[in-house]
Amino acid sequence: VGLHFRLRSRATALLSASLLSFAAAPAFALLLGDQSLVNPLSILAHAATAALMLMGLLTHLSRPNPKVALVLLAVSALGAAIGLLVPLQGSVYLGYSVFFVAALVVILSHRESFVREAGGSFASAVVLASFGLLFNLARVFSPALIAGMPAQLFQITLSVLFGLYLLMLEFNVAFIALHREQDRYRTLFDAAGDIILVSDFEGNVLAANQGTAERLGYPHEKLLTMRVMDIDAPADANRVGERMEAIRTQGAAVFESEHVCASGTHIPVEVNARLTQWGGQPAVLGVIRDITERKHSEETIARMAYYDPLTGLANRRLATDRLNQAIEHASRTDERVALLFFDLDHFKTVNDTLGHTAGDTLLIAVGDRLSELVRTGDTVARLGGDEFMLLIVDVSSKEAVATVAWKILEALRQPFLLCDQEIHVTASMGIAVFEPGASSSAVELLCDADIAMYKAKDRGRDTYQFHDPALNAAAVERFNLKTDLRRALESNELSVVFQPQVSVSGLTIVGAEALLRWHHPGRGPIAPEEFIPLAEESGLIGTIGRWVLHEACCQAHAWRDAGFVDLRIGVNVSGRQFTAVGFADEVAALLAETGLPASCLELEITESIAMRHSESIATVFCELDAIGVRVAIDDFGTGHSSLERLASFPIHTLKVARPFIQAIETDEAQSAIARSIILLANSLRLNVIAEGVENERQLQFLRETGCAQMQGFLFSPPISADDFIRLLEANAAAVAAS
Ligand code: C2E
Ligand code: CA
Ligand code: CA
Repeated sequence: VGLHFRLRSRATALLSASLLSFAAAPAFALLLGDQSLVNPLSILAHAATAALMLMGLLTHLSRPNPKVALVLLAVSALGAAIGLLVPLQGSVYLGYSVFFVAALVVILSHRESFVREAGGSFASAVVLASFGLLFNLARVFSPALIAGMPAQLFQITLSVLFGLYLLMLEFNVAFIALHREQDRYRTLFDAAGDIILVSDFEGNVLAANQGTAERLGYPHEKLLTMRVMDIDAPADANRVGERMEAIRTQGAAVFESEHVCASGTHIPVEVNARLTQWGGQPAVLGVIRDITERKHSEETIARMAYYDPLTGLANRRLATDRLNQAIEHASRTDERVALLFFDLDHFKTVNDTLGHTAGDTLLIAVGDRLSELVRTGDTVARLGGDEFMLLIVDVSSKEAVATVAWKILEALRQPFLLCDQEIHVTASMGIAVFEPGASSSAVELLCDADIAMYKAKDRGRDTYQFHDPALNAAAVERFNLKTDLRRALESNELSVVFQPQVSVSGLTIVGAEALLRWHHPGRGPIAPEEFIPLAEESGLIGTIGRWVLHEACCQAHAWRDAGFVDLRIGVNVSGRQFTAVGFADEVAALLAETGLPASCLELEITESIAMRHSESIATVFCELDAIGVRVAIDDFGTGHSSLERLASFPIHTLKVARPFIQAIETDEAQSAIARSIILLANSLRLNVIAEGVENERQLQFLRETGCAQMQGFLFSPPISADDFIRLLEANAAAVAAS
């Protein structure tokens, strides 16, 4: 019957069976000719029971409710109690038997759902129903066997037990169903890969799924004590109020945010928040997705769109974008932007002879070298094939651009190792400069640079050309000088001259300063001030500096051999040379090689370099001190020395810069500076040499202020080594005579 009516539960089926049997009991008895039940009390009792059960069943059908089962139980007990008062005959037991048969049929036919939903109670249900059936059948067929009060009591007990059983079943089914339901939701809640959070409008976390604990790394219990602001990154935490308001008014909101994990790492998330009810209160349900992957792939896509997959450099599109931006920025700020455009000379040959893989490797290596050279704000791009581009923003001068261009060409000239083979590569470069106030576009600039690059190729490659012809002249000049300087050493164009340093008191030669000279075959003498910076830029200073040192030490040694043992030789050292790795070792090796005592060598380093706040400078000072070499601070007074720093260095000599000496007669302030430098040197017990002494008045000033030594045209200009030996002899004779 239960099935037929598609009743809600097995318990309901049982109830309907019992209803039918109770209702049918008197009719059954009558049918069998048993008049005993056809008395008003019995009919009333059964009818009442049946009516109540019907009511219960109807209510139960509309809404399963344990209370209904309780009422039904009470009613069955009542019915049974009435039956106790009325002497029932066999036929009525047949009616009850029908009830138990129906119960058994239902229980057995729904074995599976009974086991699933009511667990172990299936067996007890069968036993109970079978027992009830047997008992009632026994009463029908042998009333004599089971008669009297005890049997009635037994019948009541059975009814109560069965009623109880139904009650339990009802509870059980409802409870299990509820739990199953909850479990299912919980599983869904926890199994969701997303973070699911419920919070109130103040941000207090009310519920969190397992995913939250796993993704964010906070223990589940801790989460329930936190606030959404604690999970949000600071920038987002400030916006929680505003977002809550949006959810409250609009019912839902979707936004991106950043969460902070227990480990401190930040993860980007997408929050899908909506208004919900939680424990009867309005709350916010957030389904939060970790979008790290998505961000990552967005980045990858962006990378693919903007970067060259081979070298990882910017591609043409990004380069053009940056160029446009740079031009726009430069037009506002009156700055210069330089575009260096170049390709590798004979790259095709590399591809053809070594294969494309080697060609690719070379392009990657070129990209790496370029990236090392540029400043952070600059853009290096590969435009395609072997074409590269460098965008320099905030360019100070055209010379600076030329220097960068030179550096790049020079860096590319260093051999590359490909397939165990040294490959020599050069490049031809075209440069276009966006001048403040110009109206050139990115395309025009690229075009100019391209044209200039072809000019560079025409000029024999391995060089650069400015698009602007006027610029070219100066740049080419520098470029050529640098190239010539490479050759100068080998073709003996360089020489060293010596300027004597004498005592102020007796004009005795106490030493010499070695000064480098370059006699250019085409251009004649070139001033060291012009070519030393070029040597520094091109890295040639190392070789040249070593050579000067060697010449100077050899000369000093020769003077010793000629009997002038106390002479000191001063050698200028450039900043780059001074801080190059292993400089002190090099000096030590040179002294060992030439046999010159360390105390005879005085390295001159300018004040501006000595006062640079760098670890390496201090280290070199100490290393030189350890060897026993003297150090002079050159051009003293022009830089910004800190006295404290000065005193902390192991130095021996201060050289007063020429401008101070030359201003002695004309400028009060300058001569005061010269005087105080001399005083300072004396009080620090340092030797002091005045530079550029050209006349007697200057010498007189030095005498008065107590300056120990000097050099300058007054005594002698820089002269050749041979002349210097003659001067030494003459000086010795003169000193002896006086
Ligand atoms: P510096 O070290 O200050 O050298 C002194 C300069 O003053 C020399 O110029 C010298 O010829 C010049 N001079 C000497 N006496 C007088 C004088 O009475 N009046 C005037 N007007 N000038 C005088 P030079 O030889 O042209 O050298 C210029 C600078 O080049 C040097 O300045 C030094 O900084 C650098 N330099 C020269 N040789 C070398 C070298 O071998 N290595 C390095 N790194 N730098 C060098
Ligand atoms: Ca010097
Ligand atoms: Ca000097």
